[in-house]
Amino acid sequence: MVKSASKLHAIVVPLPYQGHINPAISLAIKLASKGITITFIHTQYVHHTLTQAHRSKTGDEVDFFSGARKSGLDIRYSTISDGFPIDFDRGRNFDAFWVSFLRDFPGRVDEFIGSMMIQRDPCWTFFLITDTFFSWAPTIANKYGLVNVSFWTQTALVFSIGYHLDLLSENGHCPTKDNAEEEITYLPGIEAISTKDLMPYLKESETTKQAHIVSIKAFEEAKKADFILINTVEELELKALSALNQKKPIYVVGPVNFIRDCAPPAITKSLWTEMDCEKWLESKHPGSVLYVSFGSLAQISKQELEEIAYGLLLSEVHFIWVVRADIASEKEFSLPDGFENQVKDKGLIVPWCDQVNVLSNPAVGLFLTHCGWNSILESIWCGVPMICHPYVFDQPPNRKLIVEDWKVGVNLIDGVSVHREEVAEKIKNLMSGTVVGQGLRQEVEKAKMILHNAIETNGSSDRKFDQFIQDLENKICS
Ligand code: UDP
Repeated sequence: MVKSASKLHAIVVPLPYQGHINPAISLAIKLASKGITITFIHTQYVHHTLTQAHRSKTGDEVDFFSGARKSGLDIRYSTISDGFPIDFDRGRNFDAFWVSFLRDFPGRVDEFIGSMMIQRDPCWTFFLITDTFFSWAPTIANKYGLVNVSFWTQTALVFSIGYHLDLLSENGHCPTKDNAEEEITYLPGIEAISTKDLMPYLKESETTKQAHIVSIKAFEEAKKADFILINTVEELELKALSALNQKKPIYVVGPVNFIRDCAPPAITKSLWTEMDCEKWLESKHPGSVLYVSFGSLAQISKQELEEIAYGLLLSEVHFIWVVRADIASEKEFSLPDGFENQVKDKGLIVPWCDQVNVLSNPAVGLFLTHCGWNSILESIWCGVPMICHPYVFDQPPNRKLIVEDWKVGVNLIDGVSVHREEVAEKIKNLMSGTVVGQGLRQEVEKAKMILHNAIETNGSSDRKFDQFIQDLENKICS
């Protein structure tokens, strides 16, 4: 529990995407359970989307943290506009969105924090926790004299690559030549990584894109943070973390989504309405179902979606496939004519589901994933091996961790394009109890234990979390 005379009050601002919102909410709950007051900020768009997705369950809910307060946690909730009308398609206009979001949002946050400071209770000591991708955090924290905590929701590997962009640049690997395949062996804590496994936004052809511009600035500004929290697990990324720790203390607190010691209240965080899969799974044999999801952001070509669809069918394996309404890069998309009729009871196609609930069902034996970091943690947590098909952002380096370092998954394709026969073959092989499949299951069980142990009392992440609070208090009191 927090010991200082003044009361700590964290202002938490997550990136407005599902994969960042989930860990930020979990982190906020954990901090609140330690006696810290939280003001949690969503964009108005996220608030609207959550309201739409959960209207059926909760009516016109306006404060998604009211349940948390009822259970004794001091979490307040506010929203700030991201500057765009609600109906603006943020996913398909990623670059246009980010140009304005990065330019205008910091001013709004500044104004919001400024008015909080005017009305501040003198007993409170505020500090700021923002997603590492918000490069404006040090400026605002400085202006109001707030301790600045940067929350990195991805792996230490990716953080480490970003932390050492100067080295990559000196060696001609940042930007990375588009089709080059070179081995990098000079990054501290990373034995070897191929240029093809770096984040695609570091490529030469991406330098004018927002993903590149935003990330480069974010990694630079993260170095100014007073504290860096990472949602990974020490034992899984020991070398990368030891090297980073020599530069700056890193607090490894993952997997935050599974921290249970604070009896978390049910907090609305899913941006889409979750379809129930339990009933369908009830009749399936243990380990017989493949779960397929490409996360909340990936946009896939119509042609590739068709190959995946027919690959699933050809595999003759039972599957649940999350097909988001905006999954296709083309605006007009539907699954191939007659596909759902052909699937019959072999598959369940849903627009969104409670992923952890599905992965933890004994019927699910394999996860075809885009390698989003939350999905990976969830899969390992549930002991489910993976077939990997990464697209953008941190997904390619995450694939390397899964397939090459931890050996808890395999690649979906060996070449560059997706063909239904290869998809079917890979799935069939792993689901039919082959040696490869058994090997993956053994390794994933080991990784699962590492994750579970990390957040147990006195586990590595549990200890690091307490250490963070102690160091935070010391810094604030100094
Ligand atoms: N998710 C979910 N239901 C779905 C698909 C995904 O609840 O049908 C959740 C998943 O559990 C994870 C998040 O959405 O927590 C996606 O985050 P991730 O980092 O895996 O990928 P991203 O969406 O950021 O690419």
